[in-house]
Amino acid sequence: MRLCWRSRHGGPLPAGAVGGSTVRAVAGRGPAVTGTGPEGRPGSLSSVPRLSEVIAELDALWPPERAEQWDAVGTVCGDPDAEVTRVLFAVDPVQEIADEAIALGADLIVTHHPLYLRGTTTVAAGHFKGRVVHTLIRNDIALHVAHTNADTAEPGVSDALAGALDLRVTGPLVPENGLGRICEVEPPMTLRAFAARAAERLPATAQGIRVAGDLDATVRTVAVSGGSGDSLFDAVRAAGVDAFLTADLRHHPASEATRHSPLGLVDAAHWATEWPWCELAAAQLDEISDRHGWDLRVHVSKTVTDPWSHHSSSGAPN
Ligand SMILES: [Zn+2]
Repeated sequence: MRLCWRSRHGGPLPAGAVGGSTVRAVAGRGPAVTGTGPEGRPGSLSSVPRLSEVIAELDALWPPERAEQWDAVGTVCGDPDAEVTRVLFAVDPVQEIADEAIALGADLIVTHHPLYLRGTTTVAAGHFKGRVVHTLIRNDIALHVAHTNADTAEPGVSDALAGALDLRVTGPLVPENGLGRICEVEPPMTLRAFAARAAERLPATAQGIRVAGDLDATVRTVAVSGGSGDSLFDAVRAAGVDAFLTADLRHHPASEATRHSPLGLVDAAHWATEWPWCELAAAQLDEISDRHGWDLRVHVSKTVTDPWSHHSSSGAPN
């Protein structure tokens, strides 16, 4: 499949940033109902959706039943009857993102990572996660999570990653569960050039891009998987691709994979491989909002929440 959202919105880091975010939608379009939101033009026709209406559309994009058993997806906090006029998309539900939502006047944050993956017995504000919950509820901001259900959706997290690098998706990496994507690189390029493209197209992080393999080898086909990818090496080998773009690759799986075959490895920061999904998801909600005539603005956070914040290069090894 070839994604249309890039052609509509241009590059992965479009201009038009407001604060730390990017405005995606224009308010005040569509045929329906009454009134205007805070940004609506006087006399324009639009409607303000309820949280429950927005969530119903998000659940149609990323059905919760497609999440892994161990996952924790869905609405973390929020009043179903509350009105939603601004939505902020981000990878991580951390305090900086909650603060950014307040500054934007957002009513809803949609994140890829869960706030509480393993459950909790307290949301006391003395804990950093509880503090996020308090901040959100005190400011009438809802939080909704689409994690492994967004990984396996079509289009999903790995489609967005492929789209950011202008790769042509030819199918899933793991057909059984829909994880990862197999892609063609057109025109073929060296592993060095492919890694350079990843560095250029993905948002900048302290880690940058790590590469393993022959830099002069030709890359025609790649496997991509947003987030931690080293559990997918068997599928990558079975696919017979020239390179694998993912994150969080550990020493032993990476070492064994590169000795097993001439596979090139391109390892980006976890946050950077999943951030393109925020752009895709925002564009999807933007289109839905247009269809309904909602007075809704959609933003993508540019705040880098990758935990690795500094890189000290040791120079080239001998
Ligand atoms: Zn992740």
